Amino acid sequence: LSVQSYGNQKKSLGARRAPNGKFIPPVLGRNQEDSGGGTMMRRDGAGDNMLEDEEVDERLRHIDPKMVALVRSEIMEHGQHVSWKDIAGLEFAKKTIKEIVVWPMLRPDIFTGLRGPPKGLLLFGPPGTGKTLIGKCIASQSKSTFFSISASSLTSKWIGDGEKMVKALFAVARCHQPAVIFIDEIDSLLSQRSDTEHEASRRIKTEFLVQLDGATTTDDERLLVVGATNRPQEIDEAARRRLVKRLYIPLPDVLARQQIVEKLLSGQEHQLINEDLESIASKTEGYSGADVANLCREAALGPIRSIVDIETIKADEVRPIIMQDFLDALEHVRPSVSEKDLVSYVEWNRMFGSGG
Ligand code: ADP
Repeated sequence: LSVQSYGNQKKSLGARRAPNGKFIPPVLGRNQEDSGGGTMMRRDGAGDNMLEDEEVDERLRHIDPKMVALVRSEIMEHGQHVSWKDIAGLEFAKKTIKEIVVWPMLRPDIFTGLRGPPKGLLLFGPPGTGKTLIGKCIASQSKSTFFSISASSLTSKWIGDGEKMVKALFAVARCHQPAVIFIDEIDSLLSQRSDTEHEASRRIKTEFLVQLDGATTTDDERLLVVGATNRPQEIDEAARRRLVKRLYIPLPDVLARQQIVEKLLSGQEHQLINEDLESIASKTEGYSGADVANLCREAALGPIRSIVDIETIKADEVRPIIMQDFLDALEHVRPSVSEKDLVSYVEWNRMFGSGG
């Protein structure tokens, strides 16, 4: 079941229309069919059809249709189901996110008032520790539509249109509630320096803060903004305040590293025994999840490297991956995060983090 197929609260009811009244090809409709169609009937009766359409129209009326199309094609993600089990370790972050983010999105009727969910979540920590995975998992598990954008693309790729893009992104997300908007490298959008930088990036930042405030103050909107950053120190105070929950996503511990290796090796021919896996996990102290994944990829190339004639060898003649492949790979793939950086994350977590 795709992530997208869950998030069909508004859009599933009849045809969506573009601001100019033109029919939009039902890309999402296809996904809904994939999900067996049952969810299409889940919500209100068919009598709401017109109303829903008009609602969608209204929300997109002042938005550049080109931008809406761009958001739908480039930022809105379809498919890829991620479950909590796919994320190794990070028990504190996972538990917190389940309680304060996922459950409220599933049961907004129970999580009201005091129990109301935060609308802004910041995931910070070294690169390659699973922040993006968590974003996808939140969307999957809360049956939400997932929008994913890297903030640096707003300030580079769409520099002239970044502000319009932010507006369109939130407007489209509102039409696809519940929705999760994941913004990678959010520091580049909210940095203290961007005020003095380019006029365009300043405007993007302002627009973003306005949209974030809108999402925060409107209680019945099921919109969650998840920002991810490797440089939390760069985020200014105003932005930090709006990202109410700030969770440290640290390097994987020894058990989590072993889980990542096991998962990547499952489905591969290999001759590693449990002791080997434990040994790899303990030798990779200081590696990020992405580093461990790179190590596995490098080790998996070991059997290929010993092949003399790659063109003629049969697939089933390729030898299994062995421990020596990992020992060789450990020589080449080194941890990517410095001790100094780690200290600064811990420090920032102590000052601004939400525990854990
Ligand atoms: P980030 O967003 O923190 O930079 P990602 O979520 O993109 O990192 O992780 C990059 C890759 O590293 C993932 O696709 C996955 O293969 C691996 N990885 C990182 N952390 C974990 C984890 N905790 N559990 C499982 N895989 C992980």
